[in-house]
Amino acid sequence: MLNSYAQQNIDSSPRIVIVGGGAAGLELATRLGNGAGKARRAQIVLLDRYPTHFWKPLLHEVASGQIDASSHQIDFAAHAKWNHFRFEQGALAGIDRDRREIVIDETKDVDGRVLLPRRTLAFDTLVLALGSVTNFFSISGAADHALTLETVDQAETFRRRLVSSLLRASHARQATPGAASTPVSVTIIGAGATGVELASALRGSAQRVRDDHMASLDPATDIRIRLLEGAPRVLPALPERISARAQDVLAGLGVDVRLGCRVQSVGAETVATADGETLASDITIWAAGVEGPPVLRQLAGLPLNRLGQVIVDGTLQVENDSDIYAMGDCAACTASKGEALVPPRAQAAHQQAVYLADALMRRLDNRDVPHFSYRDQGTLISFGDAGAAGALMSELLRGPLFIEGWFAASCYRHLYRRHIIGLTGIRRAAMYGAIQWLRQRVRPTVKLN
Ligand SMILES: Cc1cc2nc3c(=O)[nH]c(=O)nc-3n(C[C@H](O)[C@H](O)[C@H](O)COP(=O)(O)OP(=O)(O)OC[C@H]3O[C@@H](n4cnc5c(N)ncnc54)[C@H](O)[C@@H]3O)c2cc1C
Repeated sequence: MLNSYAQQNIDSSPRIVIVGGGAAGLELATRLGNGAGKARRAQIVLLDRYPTHFWKPLLHEVASGQIDASSHQIDFAAHAKWNHFRFEQGALAGIDRDRREIVIDETKDVDGRVLLPRRTLAFDTLVLALGSVTNFFSISGAADHALTLETVDQAETFRRRLVSSLLRASHARQATPGAASTPVSVTIIGAGATGVELASALRGSAQRVRDDHMASLDPATDIRIRLLEGAPRVLPALPERISARAQDVLAGLGVDVRLGCRVQSVGAETVATADGETLASDITIWAAGVEGPPVLRQLAGLPLNRLGQVIVDGTLQVENDSDIYAMGDCAACTASKGEALVPPRAQAAHQQAVYLADALMRRLDNRDVPHFSYRDQGTLISFGDAGAAGALMSELLRGPLFIEGWFAASCYRHLYRRHIIGLTGIRRAAMYGAIQWLRQRVRPTVKLN
C-alpha cells in the first residue's frame, strides 16, 4: 500500500505537477508559481530527485575545480516558498495514467536512511522535464570505466581524481628532481561543446594549481589531455568557422586532438580505438552524446523515439495524452525550421519553459494555445582562460554573426546571469553574484578539497 498525497488535495484548484527542476522545469515552476500559484488558480508542485538546482552548462567548471558548485546551487524548498509553488523531493518511479497519479520512489538522506517512503502524488496536468543521461552507444566498458558530466556529484568525482593525480605528479617531481615523470593522462571522448570546454578548462586549472599551490608541477608536461572525436572536425554540429577557431585554441593549449577516431572499448586505465591503438588513460570522461532517462522506458504507454525521448506535438503535449507534456532534453519536439528536432540545449529549455508557462495559463482560462516555435539564438563555446567564440543569430542579421575574445566571453557569462535573473529576479541575482564574487576571492583558485 503506497502512501498517497492525493487525499491532501483538499484545495479544489487544478494541480500541475512538474517532474525535474533543471533548466526547463525550475523556470516553468517559478513562472507558473508567480502566475497561477500566487493567484490560487492552480497548485504548482515541483518534484526533483535532488534538494538543489544546478545549471548544467557550468559542470565543466566544477570538474576543472574553477568554481565551487555549492556557491551556485539554488535550494528548491526555499525557492518554492518564495515563488508560490510546492517542492517535493524524490525520483519519479512510475505514472498511473488511469488514476492520474505519479509514483515517487522512497527518498533517502546522505547516510542512506529513508527520509520519505515510496508514495503517490495526484495530478491534473503533468509536465515531464527530466533532462537527459549520457549515451554510451553500447561501447564496451564505457559505462563501467568512463566518468560522465551529468550531475554535480559526477563533476566532483572527476575533480577529486584530477587533483589527486596532480598531487601525486607534483610529489613525484619533488622526490626525484630532474627525473622524467609520467604525466597524468586525461582522455575526453567526444569533442562537442562539453568536451571542448572541459579540455580548455583543464589546461587552465593545471596552470593555476602550479601558480598557487604546487610549484613543482609542470602544467605543460605533467598533464596530458587527449580529446577523441569520431567526426572529421571538433564541434561537428557547429559552423566550420567555430570549429576551426576551437581547433586553433586547443592546439595552442597543447591538447592532443584526434579526429576521425572511433573508440572501441574503455578499460579501467585504457581506451582502445577502432584502428587498433590502446591509449593509457588515468581518467577517462565520456562526453559523446545524450539520450532520454531510462525511467521513461518504464513508464507504460509513453511514445518514445529511438533515443528514448518523449515524442510531443507542437504544443509540447504527449501525442496520446492531452494532460501530459514533456519539454527540455527529455522531449523529442520538431518545432524548429526544417522540422529538425529541437536540440538538447539550455536555450531550448528556456524557450520551452517560457512557452509552456503561457500555454498552461491559457489552458486554465480556456483560451487558444499557439504552437511552440524554436528560435536558434546561436552558440557560444568557452575556452576558459583562452576566451570564447561563437555565432549569434538574429532575425535582423541575414547570417550568423561570429564573435570571439572578451565580447564572446562576456556574452557566455551573460547566459548564466540571464538564467539566474529569470529565476530569482534582478535584486536576488545581484546578491548571488556578489556572494559568488566574494567567495571566489577567499577560496583557492582551483578547488582542492
Ligand atoms: C557539461 C554540460 C555542458 C553544457 N553546456 C551547454 C551550453 O554551453 N549551452 C547550452 O545551451 N546547453 C548546454 N548544455 C545542455 C543543457 O545543460 C541542457 O540542454 C539543459 O540543462 C536541459 O534542461 P532540462 O531541464 O531538460 O534538463 P536538466 O537541466 O538536466 O534538468 C533535469 C532535472 O530532472 C531531474 N531528474 C532527473 N531524473 C529524475 C527523476 N527520475 N525524478 C525526479 N527528478 C529527476 C534532475 O535532477 C534535474 O534537476 C550542457 C550540458 C552539460 C551536461
